Amino acid sequence: MGTQVPIQEGLFTWPSEDPRLIGSECNQCGAVLFPAQSGCPKCASDDTKHRELGKRGSLWTWTIQGFPPKAPPYAGDLENFEPFGVGYIELPGEVKVEARLTTADKDALKIGMEMDLQFLPLYVDDDGNEVITFAFSPAQEQ
Ligand SMILES: [Zn+2]
Repeated sequence: MGTQVPIQEGLFTWPSEDPRLIGSECNQCGAVLFPAQSGCPKCASDDTKHRELGKRGSLWTWTIQGFPPKAPPYAGDLENFEPFGVGYIELPGEVKVEARLTTADKDALKIGMEMDLQFLPLYVDDDGNEVITFAFSPAQEQ
């Protein structure tokens, strides 16, 4: 039995009872970034700290990825590719996060709808580990 490993170190807290995306916050101008950066592109300060981001946001824009993206950087299973949604989720007061969506159903997605952070297995790596990525799904109660 393999373990669950994050697709990339430093993207989100893992393992965790309550995993969160890890962004950065500029101590000078307050800009929030995801993924975390050591420098601030807004004010050029390098005085930033890590910040765990919120789990709910609103769908800012989205599309359906209907064919496999270029690999690399795409790390999923190319042979069993299935279309998936991709969108920008606006986390209130924080930052817009580009993320995979848990649905590829056009009728289930609407700009401005509430979206919740989820974690899901993407593929099994050569060592038998389940590789976990983050995604957003439409919130249960809109
Ligand atoms: Zn700044």
